[in-house]
Amino acid sequence: MALRFYNTLTQQVELFQPLEGNTVRMYTCGPTVYNFAHIGNLRTFTFEDILRRWLIYRGYQMKHVMNITDVDDKIIRNAAAENKSLAEYTAKYTQAFLEDMAALRLQKPELMVKATEHIPEMVDAIEKLAECGFTYQSDGSIYYRIAKFPEYGKLSHNDFSGIRAGARVDMDEYDKANARDFVLWKAPKDGEVFWESEIGPGRPGWHIECSAMAMKYLGETLDIHAGGVDLIFPHHENEIAQSEAITSKPFARFWLHSEFLNVESQKMAKSAGNFYTLRDLQAEGYQPEVVRYLLASVPYRKKLNFTFDGLKAAARAIGRLRDFKLRLDTDKYPDGVNEKILERTRAALRQFEESLDDDLNTAEALAALFEFVRDANTAMDAGEFRAENTAPALDLLERFDRIFAVLEPTKVESGLSDARVDELVQERNAAKKTRNFARSDQIRQDLLDSGIILEDTKEGTRWKRK
Ligand code: AMP
Ligand code: ZN
Repeated sequence: MALRFYNTLTQQVELFQPLEGNTVRMYTCGPTVYNFAHIGNLRTFTFEDILRRWLIYRGYQMKHVMNITDVDDKIIRNAAAENKSLAEYTAKYTQAFLEDMAALRLQKPELMVKATEHIPEMVDAIEKLAECGFTYQSDGSIYYRIAKFPEYGKLSHNDFSGIRAGARVDMDEYDKANARDFVLWKAPKDGEVFWESEIGPGRPGWHIECSAMAMKYLGETLDIHAGGVDLIFPHHENEIAQSEAITSKPFARFWLHSEFLNVESQKMAKSAGNFYTLRDLQAEGYQPEVVRYLLASVPYRKKLNFTFDGLKAAARAIGRLRDFKLRLDTDKYPDGVNEKILERTRAALRQFEESLDDDLNTAEALAALFEFVRDANTAMDAGEFRAENTAPALDLLERFDRIFAVLEPTKVESGLSDARVDELVQERNAAKKTRNFARSDQIRQDLLDSGIILEDTKEGTRWKRK
């Protein structure tokens, strides 16, 4: 079976192919940079990374755009509270987001674009909407008239035909029960940042941002638009209303939405105060790839319940895979090939690929890999593994890691040079010889604290960085 995704728009699993040639034009809603991203946000971005990597694995070229929302109510409020300019305030959290992305091994989209650098495009889109009669003004702000767009509700599958025309909302986020004409351009408020423009002074609403930037870089009809489920309504519904009113063409062919990450059945959210950032977890000693594994291991349309036990299990799972790889890299096996194991390896790869083709079923893909690792370990223990079984097994691991990207340990900055570590190891050996175990234990512990692990073997002491 070929590659297929669940499309929120049609509520069906559909075969996926890009509209034009081999290039997938994808837009994903990026972070609002008013704080550090929490791991709920990062779950969504990790899902989008897995999606990207799988499309590349399947031979497609990506043209992927992600926006950075660097102007909105929360940002303006927080920047003012800290007495900082918008740019100064958002630079810090934009940088933090890029660092989190790199730590989590999220591939960079081809384009990352900032809202504040696209104000003219947004003004232009609002002018087009005005020309076609989709807008009206009130108190210096410009609103989108949803009654003018009969298909409003088609993404969130809500029937809004009975709503009161003319009820307005200035907030960017609101619930389904209160579908309203939403704001495209907000009149300036006292002391708040605004832009001069042909449509008057003001600043853009959140929704017009994504429509304007997506169409600028990706054209009128995108292949894929993705985000978390909380964006279906109103954000993505509003993006459709804006874009399709301007172009009269479908805005995106596939809409993919990832489920929430919960903590004790509650959505992890900054406002609920129940959140962890990647930095919090790193401070507790969890490597970023462990967090990545946990976030990627649950299929994106299922809720993910975050627990520390889950995180520990993720660390163990990665450890098993690394041990298996080490065994393949270093152990010597008798010449020849074991046909049964070879066939087992091929079947695991098939299953791995079929699972990801099936709407990115990461849990089944991992199950296929781990069953293989268990069987291969058993065969190694029983002396049945052969030298020519090694390359196909390593190839399977390499393909797995193209998507999951967890096998390489994150380098821990120990601050100690290799030479200094060697020196301390020698000092420890000398202490052991003179039976000064207090000193030798102390050195081992100090090194461990600096991220250096010692292994005493028959050939002497080996060390590695954590
Ligand atoms: P924000 O920075 O608030 O605009 O959110 C960035 C992304 O994170 C959006 O795609 C949201 O849908 C997503 N998101 C927010 N909270 C969660 C959560 N608890 N679990 C998964 N995704 C989330
Ligand atoms: Zn968006």
